[in-house]
Amino acid sequence: MMDRVKGCVTEKCAAHKKKTTYKESDDYCSKCGDKLSYVCKKCYTPLEDTSEKYCVRCLAVRQDRNDNVVKVVGSIGGALLTASTVVLTKGKDIAKIISKLK
Ligand SMILES: [Zn+2]
Ligand SMILES: [Zn+2]
Repeated sequence: MMDRVKGCVTEKCAAHKKKTTYKESDDYCSKCGDKLSYVCKKCYTPLEDTSEKYCVRCLAVRQDRNDNVVKVVGSIGGALLTASTVVLTKGKDIAKIISKLK
């Protein structure tokens, strides 16, 4: 099960102002009683694609980071390409690999 969150999208509601998140099993806001919507786990934006737990903007930011890692790996050269999947899953280790190559 994806770890999605719901939130109150009624702007004047205290839960909305405080960006209170609710569990997926909750259907109504405990403050104002309005129906809850899926919201981005990070920025509380109501989600259009409810199969994701982040909004398109937050997903794009995450995607950008992955792209940067790919670029760095590509600039090192083909010899390391087989290691790139490992690097991608363990992004922190890439700095170590680069410093070894120098
Ligand atoms: Zn509410
Ligand atoms: Zn977001």
